[in-house]
Amino acid sequence: MSASTDVYLEGLERQDFAEEFAVGAGILRRCEWHVGFYYQDSWDLEPMYRKAAWLFKRGEISSRLFDGQKDLTDTLKAVVEEAPFECPRCEKLRTEG
Ligand SMILES: [Zn+2]
Repeated sequence: MSASTDVYLEGLERQDFAEEFAVGAGILRRCEWHVGFYYQDSWDLEPMYRKAAWLFKRGEISSRLFDGQKDLTDTLKAVVEEAPFECPRCEKLRTEG
């Protein structure tokens, strides 16, 4: 029971880290109205991968969270690919209004 909880929490941390990183790299954008919602703002992922690889090599990204550079970039890729093109709540408001 506790083991699966740990894995779940670790997954959240990785997800949170990847989201923050993608926001910092200008790939994802936070909705200014809805806390915790992100959408994709750029499609050029190469600069983000390069920055991630560089920081990981320098040890500035915790290897506790990521098994290696590929694990890190795979997580970033997944977060960006899962992000909508528009904040889902804004879209809902817009289509209902
Ligand atoms: Zn929104």
